[in-house]
Amino acid sequence: MGKVYIVGAGPGDLELLTLKGKRCVEEADCIVYDRLVNPQILSLAQTGCELIYLGKGNTEGGVIQDEINRTIVEKAIEGKTVTRLKGGDPFVFGRGGEEILALNEAEIEFEVVPGITSSISVPSYSGIPVTHRNIARSFHVFTGHTSKEGTWHNFEAIAKLEGTLVFLMGIKNLDLIAGDLIKYGKSPTTPVAIIEKGSTSKQRVVEGTLKTIVEIAREEKVVPPAIIIIGEVVNLRSEFNWFEKLPLFGKNILTTRDYKKSVEFAYEIEKLGGKATVLPLINIEPLDIELDIKDAKAILFNSQNGVKTFFEKLEDVRVLGDKKIGVVGIKTYEELLKHRIKPDFMPEKYLGERLAEESVNFTKEGDKILFITSDISPVKTEEWSEKMGRRFVATRIFKTEKVITTDIDDKIKEVDMITFLSSSAVDAYIESLGDKKHNPDIKIASIGKMTTKSIESYGLEVEIEAKTSTAQGLLTEVKNYYTNL
Ligand code: SAH
Repeated sequence: MGKVYIVGAGPGDLELLTLKGKRCVEEADCIVYDRLVNPQILSLAQTGCELIYLGKGNTEGGVIQDEINRTIVEKAIEGKTVTRLKGGDPFVFGRGGEEILALNEAEIEFEVVPGITSSISVPSYSGIPVTHRNIARSFHVFTGHTSKEGTWHNFEAIAKLEGTLVFLMGIKNLDLIAGDLIKYGKSPTTPVAIIEKGSTSKQRVVEGTLKTIVEIAREEKVVPPAIIIIGEVVNLRSEFNWFEKLPLFGKNILTTRDYKKSVEFAYEIEKLGGKATVLPLINIEPLDIELDIKDAKAILFNSQNGVKTFFEKLEDVRVLGDKKIGVVGIKTYEELLKHRIKPDFMPEKYLGERLAEESVNFTKEGDKILFITSDISPVKTEEWSEKMGRRFVATRIFKTEKVITTDIDDKIKEVDMITFLSSSAVDAYIESLGDKKHNPDIKIASIGKMTTKSIESYGLEVEIEAKTSTAQGLLTEVKNYYTNL
């Protein structure tokens, strides 16, 4: 028998998943998830984990719930570790209880991992505290749905509450909610905010009063998932709003590096409040070669991947003892430090040729110098050998493959900006587009001169170019661009 973890995934922002929830996702053999779960969470699952989407919405009737109950029971009986992932908290209108009843009946073990419920976190992300000294001393959370039998809340009692009122699933019945509150004595001028897709880059907030909100929500075409928050605390938003002020809030940025680096870059984008769309256009693969470093006097590296692959292939680090080592690029430098090696030299300029020139100061006439690099890096060993009186040999240790995505225009339709960090990614983008044209509404950001040249060679316009040719440098430029718009 397997075990079922009923896990709250939080309101949308990936990082609002708890550490325990993350562990349950990572260790699951099977994940059953619903519509409100941020799909990025699923990328934390182990390879081979079965992902089952069930649920058009949390408000669906019994049919889908029966199917969910059946599925988690069946999978657990198969011996699987099942994670049932739900938006927000499993017990706040999450029907977690019904799943437990089904598990108990089948005598299946379970644990519940609470999640950050949208009822408090979505207001937080819009700068509205559910309680505040001297303004609200309680908060009350309701479903905006009538139950199956059509019973409605006792609004006569609710209208008398002095605390903040929070309604989930209330958009369809907004007129009833506002109408009944006024009818039973709440002031029509009570502030109301509706927050759509809270804590995501698509968060949208509309504000009004009990009297005006129905009209405003209709005009603004508010759609679920959205939370209604009613009370004087709403006024604090003008002062407390923070999320929507993050530099990349509301922006969707495409990352095109290889998968691992794209994920790292995506994380940085999201820290600045943006949404990252990860679409690797290149793939890095080690090449099947043997290292021959015996008689080399110096070893040069011009990329992080080069260093990484080199040490994967190296069997005994002591053979490096008598070799001079040079690097170019801060990432290359940092990667080398991970192996407890400090380079002997590192030119300021990010240029392979400068690296070769510096190596002359550390070697003698005729010495062999290895240049560890990729299959496509323009390393002019012959020219340098002649010019500098050394024997430069390129060891092409990894390759950069283009990843062609045929439905790319569909995948990037919501993107505001594409980031290119290499010419290969640009080539892959153009190849992926095929006959289709680049959508000029999508801005292009380039890491540096070489990449810009590639982009322009296809007749495309570069909106921004990094001042320092690193991922961080590019991010800074992207941030400045949107801050100054
Ligand atoms: N268990 C969930 C609630 C499920 S009911 C929780 O604890 O948050 C689904 C309702 O939650 C939606 O109709 C909406 O009212 C609210 N909701 C969930 N996520 C939301 C989000 N990111 N933004 C706004 N409302 C959200």
